[in-house]
Amino acid sequence: MIIVMKPDAPANVVDDLLARIEAKGLKPLHMPGSERVVLGALGDERVLGELELEGHPYVEAVKPILAPYKLVSRELHPHDSIVTIGDVSIGGSRFALIAGPCAVENETQLLASAKAAKAAGARILRGGAFKPRTSPYSFQGHGGEGLTLLADVGRELGMPVVTEVLESGDVDLVATHADALQVGARNMQNFSLLKAVGQVRKPVILKRGMSARIEDLLLAAEYILAEGNDQVVLCERGIRTFETATRNTLDLAAVPLLKAKSHLPVIVDPSHGTGIRALVAPMALAGAAAGADGLMIEVHFDPGAAQCDGAQSLFPHQLEALGKQLGQLLPVVGRTL
Ligand code: PEP
Ligand code: MN
Repeated sequence: MIIVMKPDAPANVVDDLLARIEAKGLKPLHMPGSERVVLGALGDERVLGELELEGHPYVEAVKPILAPYKLVSRELHPHDSIVTIGDVSIGGSRFALIAGPCAVENETQLLASAKAAKAAGARILRGGAFKPRTSPYSFQGHGGEGLTLLADVGRELGMPVVTEVLESGDVDLVATHADALQVGARNMQNFSLLKAVGQVRKPVILKRGMSARIEDLLLAAEYILAEGNDQVVLCERGIRTFETATRNTLDLAAVPLLKAKSHLPVIVDPSHGTGIRALVAPMALAGAAAGADGLMIEVHFDPGAAQCDGAQSLFPHQLEALGKQLGQLLPVVGRTL
């Protein structure tokens, strides 16, 4: 429920209402605006009637939040949220390019790929240390050592780093090395992991599950916000459909739809979204044109030798060319790289 206070509502009245909402077992939210204060009450709304808000002298309106995802919804929070990863903002007028290899393999590979990412205009470095692989025989990542290497290279190049966390027990470890935690497609509905990343004070990039509906993704994000972490970026990375010509079907309609339904920033991952190197740049541009706040792209200094996802990894010169094209396209949609 959203409770819009009258512009002249005194602070002590607001505090009293918040206390009464809490006493009813609901979660109170305090959202001061430039003209008036808006309060939220989350939980079993049937008890709200007992607060007699309708007749309250300082309450202007009481409105239900219709979406099942309350904190994530634009109904509760009409303005765009900005998520800050290191010193990089995602969600404002400046577009955020996140790039790096699928996996952290070794120092030479990571440093060369990270330099390529930076040269192309990427401001955040990605790289997996814990890799979720379909086959147990595939390279699983270097774990803790990979995290340290990623953090070192990020520091050397002045780029904040994002990396995937696969299980709740690793959240603290990953959070000590990374500037942002990635929850991957395979874990989008791992509710204990969502709660665990909701309890740390590091931003989270939440990737859409391969068979997740938009509402499932938004409810997964709600788990993180409900634990107190509002620094969440949603990532469209393709879904499974009957089409097998591409690795996944990149659902770009999800971008404006997510942005209409939620205040959270939205980025696109055309690498996993297509699985095919030649399709990455065109779909990256399409994602930017669709209104994404950023992109996450895999780049490798020698994709043929990559231990993971080489076929979808751009060569450095391809990322650089994409960076230039983004620079030209973004002003059309009111953004800069
Ligand atoms: C990744 O970003 O390397 C990854 C494994 O992505 P997803 O979870 O989208 O498959
Ligand atoms: Mn990958």
